Amino acid sequence: MKTLKCGDRGKEVLDVQSRLKSLDYNVGIDGVDGLFGRDTEAAIKLFQQNSGLIVDGIIGENTWCELVESRYEPGERLLYLRIPPFRGADVLTLQRSLNCLGFNAGPEDGIFGAKTEGAVLDFQKNAGLVMDGMVDDSVIKVMAKVTKDGEPHNSEAKIPDRNGGYASGRELSELTIAIDPGHGGKDQGACTADGLREKDINLELGKKLARMLAAAGATVTMTRDMDQRVSLYERPAAANHAGADIFLSIHHNSHENPKAQGVAAYYFCRQGYYSEAGRVLAEHIVDRISGRLGLPLIPVMGRNYAVLRETEMTAVMVEPLFITAGGMGEKLADGELIGLEAEAIFQGLKEYFA
Ligand SMILES: [Zn+2]
Repeated sequence: MKTLKCGDRGKEVLDVQSRLKSLDYNVGIDGVDGLFGRDTEAAIKLFQQNSGLIVDGIIGENTWCELVESRYEPGERLLYLRIPPFRGADVLTLQRSLNCLGFNAGPEDGIFGAKTEGAVLDFQKNAGLVMDGMVDDSVIKVMAKVTKDGEPHNSEAKIPDRNGGYASGRELSELTIAIDPGHGGKDQGACTADGLREKDINLELGKKLARMLAAAGATVTMTRDMDQRVSLYERPAAANHAGADIFLSIHHNSHENPKAQGVAAYYFCRQGYYSEAGRVLAEHIVDRISGRLGLPLIPVMGRNYAVLRETEMTAVMVEPLFITAGGMGEKLADGELIGLEAEAIFQGLKEYFA
């Protein structure tokens, strides 16, 4: 599906609006009219905010995917393990219920994977149901009966991840690190005042970091090592395929105000579920970058970005600095600053495993 933004019109816009409306978002007085106006944009921004996505009012791959998946209520369709997996709000609710009941459904990512199936089988066994791993309305009803009201859906409760968790005391030489330089090809990302492109800076940093990690004995895999477009879902898929232990997505921040500064990093979070390992790693990385570059630190944030959600390992997205900050273009151009970023991330990773 192509990217949709304010000003667009047509069948796809109609589709988006009717989905938003069915989710109780206000698409304006004209309603579902196939015109992507300000009201539709506001509705999308609200949806994005509620879903932990980047709030840009644009329908890209991730927002579209979340919009399609938000539709399902638990029990509305039959869920089971298949390829490609079932995904969506109903799977998420199922995982939360299973985890709350003490069955390990794995990370609450809204994707029906092998761990979710294992937990369903466990539950069926314990509840005296047929052990077939199929979740239909009757299984949901039994689950609701044994789940005390309110407990599993308490959105305030933060549940740490079940994806292996914090793995300390490991050497870099035992690890596979996936490095994901953001953007590429036609997708240029942000831009400095003097025309340096984020996609190129991300790639340069990714390559520098890859060399350092490889020199320290780590196995490194990159989602792109040249200027090419890689889709949002191909990136985590490549890391999963490589069996990586850590996924590091590299971006650089931007803002229209040249005074905006700071080191940012994100870990996976979705409706109260979050990756504890991701959070800890993100903190080590921002601490190191902030110290090394003398930049203010933005507290690490949980986000439901596709690259953080779809990866099966501990994943962090880092934005070492704002490329739009005053004078940053010149500083970035000589490459030394990017070298410092790479060293800081490298140190952060080493500390995390120490
Ligand atoms: Zn970016």
